[in-house]
Amino acid sequence: MILIEGAAKRFGSHAVLDGINLRVEPGEVVSILGASGSGKSTLIRCINGLEKLDAGTISVDGHRVDDSRQLQLARRCSGTVFQQFNLYPHMTALQNITLAPIEVLKVPRIQADDEARKLLASVGLSERADAYPSQLSGGQRQRVGICRALAMKPRYLLLDEVTSALDPEMTAEVLAILAKLAAEGTTMLFVTHEIEFARQISSRVVFLDQGRLLADLPAVQFFAANGGLAQPRIAQFLSKMS
Ligand code: ATP
Ligand code: MG
Repeated sequence: MILIEGAAKRFGSHAVLDGINLRVEPGEVVSILGASGSGKSTLIRCINGLEKLDAGTISVDGHRVDDSRQLQLARRCSGTVFQQFNLYPHMTALQNITLAPIEVLKVPRIQADDEARKLLASVGLSERADAYPSQLSGGQRQRVGICRALAMKPRYLLLDEVTSALDPEMTAEVLAILAKLAAEGTTMLFVTHEIEFARQISSRVVFLDQGRLLADLPAVQFFAANGGLAQPRIAQFLSKMS
């Protein structure tokens, strides 16, 4: 379980996260929605320890991310995919995927290669294992990025606007992969501006507004009531996005 309690983060005088409480159980697909600047990426970065909280705690399967020794264990539990692909340019798709399993998990190279090829096949990229990132389209790079995260067999997949740098066709191919992972039971916490997609695959929706958690509802309920008609901020956000 990802457990966030009283999480607060400031940049200077700006409260970017303001008392966030959130719990993500294995098997859930939770989308994080909210306007630009509402703190979505900061929350993801705090979960994998790239940013430190000023107050509150975050733990992943009981490992506290604010404890430097536990952070490594917490990070093993989750895989993160960002908007920008962050693939190593001098490595092939296959090498990008096998690097961490070989170096960190000490998986023998033959086994790591075999698993990476299966992952590439699962995202329709069997033929591109030996291509370098510069030889791949944006959508293909992002699919390799997802494979790279999955190669570490994370219990939780964190995704921050993985399609926002892509054109609509490539967006569709990446969203199809995520839908498949969700259907297979992969636990996901994902930030997206693709509202229709969030509606289709989320079990739960979290809405951030100026660093505060305005709603945390089953997806059906969130969309049925526009986030609850008592929440004008959410109704306004959804009407702008659709
Ligand atoms: P978007 O939808 O545009 O990606 P977001 O919800 O992901 O937005 P964040 O990136 O979490 O928003 O940023 C929240 C606020 O924190 C913004 O006002 C941003 O300017 C500020 N912020 C983020 N990172 C830093 C930083 N390193 N230093 C100072 N301010 C920051
Ligand atoms: Mg962001």
